[in-house]
Amino acid sequence: MKIRFLGGGREVGRSAILVDDILLDYGMKPCDPPLYPFNGLCPSSVIVSHAHLDHSGVVANLMDLKPKVFMTPVTRDLSLLLAHDTLKISKRQGIFPFEVEDVQILMQRVQPVTYLDDCRVDGYSARLFDAGHIPGSASIYLDGEKRLLYTGDINTLNTRLLNGADTNYLDVDVLIIESTYFGKIHPDRKELERQFVESVIQTLDDGGSAILPCFAIGRTQEILMILDAYGLSPYVDGMGVDVQQIFERHPSYLRDIDELQDALDNAKVVEPEHRSSILKEPSIIVTTAGMLNGGPVLYYLGKVHDDPRSKVLLTGYQVEGTNGWNALERGCVEIDGETIPLNLQVEYYDFSAHADDVGLKDIVKRCKNAEIVFTVHGDNTEDFAQWIRENCNCDAIAPKNGDEIILD
Ligand SMILES: [Zn+2]
Repeated sequence: MKIRFLGGGREVGRSAILVDDILLDYGMKPCDPPLYPFNGLCPSSVIVSHAHLDHSGVVANLMDLKPKVFMTPVTRDLSLLLAHDTLKISKRQGIFPFEVEDVQILMQRVQPVTYLDDCRVDGYSARLFDAGHIPGSASIYLDGEKRLLYTGDINTLNTRLLNGADTNYLDVDVLIIESTYFGKIHPDRKELERQFVESVIQTLDDGGSAILPCFAIGRTQEILMILDAYGLSPYVDGMGVDVQQIFERHPSYLRDIDELQDALDNAKVVEPEHRSSILKEPSIIVTTAGMLNGGPVLYYLGKVHDDPRSKVLLTGYQVEGTNGWNALERGCVEIDGETIPLNLQVEYYDFSAHADDVGLKDIVKRCKNAEIVFTVHGDNTEDFAQWIRENCNCDAIAPKNGDEIILD
């Protein structure tokens, strides 16, 4: 078995791992300018773990190689939405990773695979396990010369939207595990929800508006469900609304479609032409983008940035250099090339969809017969590998991008 790490080595973003002729994920790092995985590869097949840009974002680029493409049906539909969004942004930036035709070909080439179904892929038997990260997300298991498990992004705990990951894996010789939250512990979810909702209510009581920036896929719906559970009625604006329609077509990939539907019914969808009227009174606005890099959230921030009664409640991880990170660390954002100081309050809530330190270590322990573990997708992959070498009975490596490893 030959493994080449083409992206996501000692970094978060542009995940891509080539296992013999099978490519696991092919994502981009959505920074400015965007970064792509190492190239020069010619996979026969691509298996996509989930529909996040850093895992699926540039699969459409590979269509001239005519690979077979495998993913869950939800990931397929979400990838189509993301690809069109990427093309829209590309038009503005003048950098095109792929063309519309590539996206059409990709959709024709996708062979949908449901969880726990076995399929033959280039000499391996492949199986997808529910990764609990976003709807349709999968850990990828390959059984061939060796048995390999790639976790993709994984969450072991239940959320309102999803059940935690299915970790009833078969025996594994090689484990490739994400490391995003190695060394970090998430706060208690119920307590976090309570603090979050209290802060939203306080903002309204003070006469301000609560802006809740959310990732379109998963986080928007999770936050709507939390607000609904506490009897709060928000506005919802942005790509999260389109995503909801995709989820409704695939109810079996959700924990409870009725609860989600109730949450959306409880929210008022904002049409772009009505945005200006919403801020006339204190409002709760769930909107994209989650890291404040584009989307309707910039419109709302442009209107309330000088209102100390209002608040931005960030609901996810903020990558360094993004507007969201700048809002938290520097108290400013950039809108249309102009730096805008924020005179409102900015708070951060860790509604992560990744396993934390405890969850990650638990996954490694479950794969107790693994002979080697590769730690990827994190800022601290080397320390995670060291922890595994010291505490588990196996070797562990934090590969760099471009590393190639042959296992006998
Ligand atoms: Zn992800």
